[in-house]
Amino acid sequence: MTDAARSKVHSEVPDANAAYVAEFGDRRDLALPPARGFAIQTCMDARLDPAKYAGLAEGDAHVIRNAGGRATDDGIRSLVISHKLLGTQEWFVIHHTNCGMELFSDEVIGDLLADNLETASFAGKAWSNPRHGHGSAHGHFIK
Ligand SMILES: [Zn+2]
Repeated sequence: MTDAARSKVHSEVPDANAAYVAEFGDRRDLALPPARGFAIQTCMDARLDPAKYAGLAEGDAHVIRNAGGRATDDGIRSLVISHKLLGTQEWFVIHHTNCGMELFSDEVIGDLLADNLETASFAGKAWSNPRHGHGSAHGHFIK
């Protein structure tokens, strides 16, 4: 991403949020517990819109997202809070086709991070770093 594109995003997101807040209206009075009584654990993939694929509106359900839609310790923590304190009675764990998590293993991302911290690229079969050096062995703790 170029500096100009990054700068554009830095203004687009607050502008979109201001427009959303201006039209929020009566939704400010929605109850804290999800009205439809369920939660969804799903992938962070930018191509997915849980509100659209699950037919959600604000206040309907909890949506917990992470890379791969995994029920990690933090995902489970959120789901337990969703049930115990906010009354959800069902949880859906929703994965999808063509998930980016299929493109690497723990060893691959660990090795990439150990080599260099900048964004890597994928050339159809393998990941590579734009430069080498200044990595962190802590990347091997990413699971
Ligand atoms: Zn995914």
